[in-house]
Amino acid sequence: MEQLKAAIRDIPDFPKPGVGFKDITPLLADPATFKLAIDLFKERHAGNQIDMVVGIEARGFIFASALAYALGAGTCLVRKPGKLPHAVHQQTYELEYGTDTVEIHSDAFKPGQRILIIDDVLATGGTVAATIDLISTNFDVEIVESDFLMELGFLNGRARLGSNPIHALLTY
Ligand code: IMP
Repeated sequence: MEQLKAAIRDIPDFPKPGVGFKDITPLLADPATFKLAIDLFKERHAGNQIDMVVGIEARGFIFASALAYALGAGTCLVRKPGKLPHAVHQQTYELEYGTDTVEIHSDAFKPGQRILIIDDVLATGGTVAATIDLISTNFDVEIVESDFLMELGFLNGRARLGSNPIHALLTY
């Protein structure tokens, strides 16, 4: 885990003053460290019969595609509004100021499929909570877990996620 942490850098005041941003681009750039992250997720889910790995835009896509390949699963994209070309379901959620929306293709899953959601960072939990709602209200599937490279524990995103299973490789 120290190897993973050492490859993540803090960017103060990004994207706005007062926010400390965890920049994962050095981790992605280092082959051994990126492989370690994917291998840790893979080991966790090797026996879980995951059918689809859902990546949340945008950095979630990076982990979802590599992990789906490693697990022999499919990849599915949860995107910001207006980006997906086919018919969509959508879910709107509250931000500190205003709202945001996530979308998924309406034919993303087959009934009974086992789903793993993945993103780079769990912060306030709003994005993944909306993604879980989006999937569970529109599809008859099983969400096995929502996984993250890191959890910003001080923002207490877990509290927003009730009994939904959550796992993060790193906690800050
Ligand atoms: P939440 O909805 O507040 O949990 O925010 C999670 C979303 O914001 C994820 O899709 C992350 O990619 C992004 N995010 C929040 N904070 C950071 C950060 O420090 N580094 C990288 N991404 C972040």
